[in-house]
Amino acid sequence: MKLILLGAPGAGKGTVAKLLTKIDGSVQISTGDILRGAVTAGTDLGKEAKGYMDAGDLVPDELIMNIMGERLLEDDCKNGFLLDGFPRTIPQADALKELLVKLDITLDMAVNLDVPRDVIMDRLTTRRTCSNKDCQAIYNVKSMPSKVEGICDKCGSETIQRADETEEAIGNRLATYNEKTAPLVEYYLGEGLLLNVQATSSDVAVAEVTKQLNV
Ligand code: ADP
Ligand code: ZN
Repeated sequence: MKLILLGAPGAGKGTVAKLLTKIDGSVQISTGDILRGAVTAGTDLGKEAKGYMDAGDLVPDELIMNIMGERLLEDDCKNGFLLDGFPRTIPQADALKELLVKLDITLDMAVNLDVPRDVIMDRLTTRRTCSNKDCQAIYNVKSMPSKVEGICDKCGSETIQRADETEEAIGNRLATYNEKTAPLVEYYLGEGLLLNVQATSSDVAVAEVTKQLNV
């Protein structure tokens, strides 16, 4: 499957993407994960992106398009991909459209995970992420705690609250989402690609997507 996953921060794009990869071997491509990997590795890209990310602002479109232009050329994309956190702006969506024409790739759908704001706020402030960059497992202190508090079940590393998950940064991320990313829902409706999902749980969202795609 070749999908775009849309939704506010905390809507569950990453979780839904991971579940979908298990169905047909499509790869999850998360621009957030790629950027955090670059920050940890201390590359030029990481140095440029870090300030924006910690403040909860978007990284410039040009940087993101450079990343995605290369990523979509990699072999593992041939079986399908789930774009998680990209595109985030109308210019990114326009650039992606052009890129896909050039690569002769057709998208199946853009899936919008629709989650109420209070649910989002609650999820984001209680989220913990494994600090091991090769693991990055996600937990929730309320709904999905690790077996030992503060320790990742999968790899034993410390679980942490991301720098952009302080209350102030979260407020900024949601405002940025409303201003820059929410208009993409209309955009993909206009493209005839939109599937809106009332994503109360990730399982419900996955079931809805697989039903639509007949997989
Ligand atoms: P979220 O949990 O907010 O959905 P991500 O993990 O997708 O966050 O991204 C974390 C940060 O990385 C964003 O707040 C932003 O600074 C940057 N980022 C990720 N994807 C993009 C993108 N497509 N365009 C611009 N900035 C991005
Ligand atoms: Zn881990």
